[in-house]
Amino acid sequence: MKDVYILGIESSCDETSMSIIKNGCEEIATTVLTQMDTHAEYGGVVPEIASRMHTENITIVLEDLLKKSNMTVDQVDAIAVTYAPGLLGSLLVGVEAAKVLSLVYNKPLIATHHIAGHIYANNLVKPIEFPSLALVVSGGHTELVLMEGDYQFKVLGATKDDAIGEVYDKVARVLDLPYPGGPNVEKYALKGNHTYDLPVPMNNKDLEFSYSGLKSAVINIKHNAEQRGEEINKYDLARSFQDVAIDELVRKTKQALDEHREVKSVIVAGGVSANNYLREKMKELCEQENIDLCIPPMKYCTDNAAMIACAAYPKYLKGEFADLSLDAKSSLELY
Ligand code: AMP
Ligand code: MG
Repeated sequence: MKDVYILGIESSCDETSMSIIKNGCEEIATTVLTQMDTHAEYGGVVPEIASRMHTENITIVLEDLLKKSNMTVDQVDAIAVTYAPGLLGSLLVGVEAAKVLSLVYNKPLIATHHIAGHIYANNLVKPIEFPSLALVVSGGHTELVLMEGDYQFKVLGATKDDAIGEVYDKVARVLDLPYPGGPNVEKYALKGNHTYDLPVPMNNKDLEFSYSGLKSAVINIKHNAEQRGEEINKYDLARSFQDVAIDELVRKTKQALDEHREVKSVIVAGGVSANNYLREKMKELCEQENIDLCIPPMKYCTDNAAMIACAAYPKYLKGEFADLSLDAKSSLELY
């Protein structure tokens, strides 16, 4: 069969990225331009600034990608783009760019879900073995997804309130740690001990998650200390929070595996999969359960277009193409 080259575009938050992927699993070249330093000045992503910067950066990213890959747009077989979920103004820049490339170069257009991208990033490591259990942990998602085959997503359990990444970011703010919150909480946790008593979220037997209680407990500890004129130990509070937050993910993953003995592999996907404590704990669990674990390398955990081109490949094979009426959506379920 002829090799298939897909040009992927990602602009759902604060990274402008393009990538060319061969046959859904082999990276030819990727360019990522992050706006992190700009948003750090504001303590978080400012949507209006993000979309303006995507507009400024998108052609720069394309030029850089074509130079690095030594290819032309004419040589690719399809254009894939993240169309949901994310910041609407940011998504629109990528979607419009993809439509223009598709029209001008007469290439099929493939609409890709951002979270499917995080899941399919694992194909860059090795082919996903089905049935697979995906733990999706990001700024907007905390869910356990059973995949019986390509694009056959069955959500077994999801968060009833806050997403785990969101809570990491909130805890960072409570502890006065700079943006981006998640990685900084992890850094502090590394130097702390588990000394604070925090409630275990959703201490039950189903596969739902809830993180708002844990979040409130951290906020209360900080407020109570302030009222007493005491200092909290940021390192210990970060560590206590991380232990409880991550152990809950691992516990529920084990429960899902117990309920689905047919599962052949576990995938961890989304921005929080960059967390080393989570990576270690999931490795321990999968060794115990004697099951294959796949976590993307760090560079594919943060937002990138390589994962978007990977996720587009099964759609390319099935001929599932979008037309020029494609619109961005700020929220959209995976299934
Ligand atoms: P995403 O929504 O997939 O783009 O992932 C972004 C989320 O992942 C943000 O909420 C980050 O705070 C979080 N995140 C990134 N790195 C880490 C880390 N090392 N530990 C915990 N959370 C992280
Ligand atoms: Mg993401």
